[in-house]
Formats: sequence, C-alpha cells, structure tokens
Amino acid sequence: MTNRIRVFAGECTAEFEGTRDRTSRGIIVALVKPDNTVLVHDSNGYSPVAWLTRPASLTIDHSDGTTIEARDGEQQLQIRFHEMYEKSTYPGSVAGVPVGTCSATGEALVRCRGSVVNVETGREYDISSGAVVLDEHCRDCGLPLIRVERGSRFEVCLDRACESIDSAVISAFDRTWSCPECGDALRIRQSGDLIVRCDSQSNGVSIDGQHCETEFEFPNGVVVGTCTCGLPVFETEDGRSVSPCAEQSCDTSSYVDS
Ligand SMILES: [Zn+2]
Ligand SMILES: [Zn+2]
Ligand SMILES: [Zn+2]
Repeated sequence: MTNRIRVFAGECTAEFEGTRDRTSRGIIVALVKPDNTVLVHDSNGYSPVAWLTRPASLTIDHSDGTTIEARDGEQQLQIRFHEMYEKSTYPGSVAGVPVGTCSATGEALVRCRGSVVNVETGREYDISSGAVVLDEHCRDCGLPLIRVERGSRFEVCLDRACESIDSAVISAFDRTWSCPECGDALRIRQSGDLIVRCDSQSNGVSIDGQHCETEFEFPNGVVVGTCTCGLPVFETEDGRSVSPCAEQSCDTSSYVDS
C-alpha cells in the first residue's frame, strides 16, 4: 500500500491564522493526507471550513487531548480536540479514470495526469497524453496494451520495461530518412525522449571541418508523407501536419503523400 490518510472525528476548535484569521468550533472530521495537507470538514456543504495545503511542517500531539498543528510560512492551522470520537488511519491511493485491470492480478488501474497507476500497489506507468489504453492485455505480464502514435500506430505493453515503445519506433524508423543537409542516414536514438540525429555525427563525416548538426525530437503523430527536402511529415492527433523542417524554408503544404 502506498499512502495513508489519517482521519480524526470529534468536537474541536480550529483556528486558522494567515490571510484571514478565522476560528471555528464544531463536531467535525479532520483529514490529514499523505502530503500533510489538512482539511477540516463540518456537516455543511462540500467545502472544508478550514484547511492548509501541503504545509511545511505538521505536528500531531496527543499529550493533552489531541492537537493537530500545521504551519506554512505565515499561515497556521491549529485543531484542538475537546472530545475525540474516533481516530484512524486508512490506506489511500490517487483516484483516476478507470482504464481496466491487470489480467494477471486483477488489480485496478486508473489514469491520472501523465500516468496509469495501479490502485493497490501504487506503481505508476508513464504514458504519453495521446496514448490510448486498450482492452487487450500483454501476454507476458498481463497489463493492458496501449496504442501510441509515434511515426506509426504501435500497440505495446503499458509497462515500458516489459515492451519498449522506444525500441519499436527505433526498429521501424532507424535509417528510414536521409539528412536534408548532408544526405547521410538519419538515426533514431533514445536520449531521454526519442531523437532523430544525422549519422554523420557518429561516423565522423564532416562538411568544411564541422559535423552536420541535423537533430530533432521524434515528433508525435503518424507519418503521412515526405517533404520536398526529404524529411517526414507527421499528422498529429488534432489533425495538424508537422514536419521537423517547418521552421526552415520548406513549404510543408506541398509534401508528397506516402
Ligand atoms: Zn507486458
Ligand atoms: Zn546531416
Ligand atoms: Zn522540408
């Protein structure tokens, strides 16, 4: 289990000092999240009566009743319990859009920001924003397959360590295009993200004593054609045509469909 949420229920006085000082007394539920964010909820409405998000310090003192004190710069939230009904700690996870389960373990998977998270183990799998999680599962590990558009449409395992989208792109497109500057092959390399780099940089060929500097990030989208300069033209998810040469003099509206 990844995270724990602490819950305190009882009658208390909550004092907030900061942008607006405010004191509230009532029977409430106070939550302390794994990042130490403190929320005080009463029986009314949806918003907390007091809160402090990710405070720099948090202390919970049980010596004389229970007092929760959170501080962040000029802001301070102190919750003093006069009577405690219940205090407990529960496991917590991020909540995201359900995207299926691992077929090997049955554990639920959710999509949240830039990753898919296993709700039970907390394990995160980075996923690009355009990737689609499919209903089919990986035969090796049981995780769902994802469809990713990098040059072509690839269906690979959610877990890069199991099946690498980068390796699939490299084997599909390495040496496919020629450098518009020097004619050498363009190599696909992984350097953080995937990059396309003129091979003259690795084989030592130079023009006028300088290495050709052609290098760009491997674009997102699917290859739909070839520019007059020889570089590929990609169509992105939102239907735009992009080419790494667009900032140069090429007119990408005149590319040839592949
Ligand atoms: Zn797999
Ligand atoms: Zn070159
Ligand atoms: Zn071009």
